[in-house]
Amino acid sequence: MSLSQPSSPIAWEALGRESLEHFKALLRIDTTNPPGNEIEAARYISALLTREGIEHQVLESAPGRASLVARLRGDGSAGPLLLNGHLDVVPVEADKWRHPPFAATEADGCIWGRGAIDMKNMVTMGLMTLITLHRRRVPLARDVIFAAVADEEAGSDLGAVFLVEQHPELVRAEYVLNEVGGHTLHMGRARFYPIQVSEKGICWFTLKARGEPGHGSMPHAGNPVLRIARAIEKLGHTRLPQHNTRVVEDFLTRLAAGAGFPQGQVLPLLLHPTLSGPLLDLLDKAQRDQAMGLNAMLRHTAAPTMLRGSSKVNVIPGAASVTVDGRVLPGFSTEDFLREVQQVVGDDLELSVLNSHDGTQFTTHTPLFDAICDAVRQHDEGAVPVPYMIPGFTDSFAYARLGATCYGFSPVRLDDPSLKFTQMYHGHNERIPVAGYLWGQRVLYELVESFCAAQRS
Ligand SMILES: [Zn+2]
Repeated sequence: MSLSQPSSPIAWEALGRESLEHFKALLRIDTTNPPGNEIEAARYISALLTREGIEHQVLESAPGRASLVARLRGDGSAGPLLLNGHLDVVPVEADKWRHPPFAATEADGCIWGRGAIDMKNMVTMGLMTLITLHRRRVPLARDVIFAAVADEEAGSDLGAVFLVEQHPELVRAEYVLNEVGGHTLHMGRARFYPIQVSEKGICWFTLKARGEPGHGSMPHAGNPVLRIARAIEKLGHTRLPQHNTRVVEDFLTRLAAGAGFPQGQVLPLLLHPTLSGPLLDLLDKAQRDQAMGLNAMLRHTAAPTMLRGSSKVNVIPGAASVTVDGRVLPGFSTEDFLREVQQVVGDDLELSVLNSHDGTQFTTHTPLFDAICDAVRQHDEGAVPVPYMIPGFTDSFAYARLGATCYGFSPVRLDDPSLKFTQMYHGHNERIPVAGYLWGQRVLYELVESFCAAQRS
């Protein structure tokens, strides 16, 4: 194992080869959640860190549900930076894939596999960053913490939430770098890099209607299934009120400034509640994925997902219910959101909340955010970094509870504008361009080294 010194140049090619080798090995370990079984991936990483002599712990929240935390110590003059990645992946429909989802096949310039972008790429890049800092004996001001966690895809309870609640001393950090951001977004000739600074919260709830039970052969208007159907119909056809959050205003304004005609003219109009509805309807016909994403940034949403009525075809039930996936903008409470829902469906249905947590919104006025923007501009000349909000959530909501400022920056350069990157999250044929991965590895390493290294006198 070569121990290059901080002053010597990094052999990027060799580092890239090594990084790809570990990336492929992790892709070949099936960590589909459920059941997760992240311990196999954690053991792989643990063996590697042991060989390198880096202190770390593997912690099991439940049998087989392991998270790994490693740390390089700084001189304590600045707060820690945590590099987070989740080890679990979502299930696959293997017959819909062009290459097997757990083989890490290299084809057409890409590496294919479940977890290629969500998010064994960032896990490996973070891991190699840690190892490289250690090999080069870079004197650090900040501790660099590496967390490879279980269970993000099922809500983080057995991974990041477990660590935050049971082992806060291991993961308390000033800053967290995490997933969903740092990829190239092509718009006309312009290239943007969205950096995630905000996530929506959740409010999962059930609406229940009670009515008169009876025999299916004699229908009546008191059937609670009909009342639930009316509520669903209203939810499906109503956009909840628009709320322009600071981050979305900033996102659309910066996007408009960097984009040419016509996007530059159209995007700011989305901030006007009277115009945004018709604009989103138009966009929905042309580019549904973009319309969905923009709509979700501008308002709370409520998507009915699960129905329950009678268990017998010939019985009108005494009660019927629908479960709704509610997503709440940061800065708003569960109560604010439910008030809007009740204005749509009425208040004569029984409402019970199943699970909720608030959204997050982090300031962009930090030295880390500036350093990320500099790194993007330096490694992709002419590209524009833009802060943005995601409609979903990541492990960041858990780390935020310990006071961390969290950004989604898992850098990958995408040269092919036709590659629908965000659609590959949880989609078939998940893959990452090799060149874009290697670019990301270098960007992440250089960012972390420059941000965490002690000032040399
Ligand atoms: Zn993910």
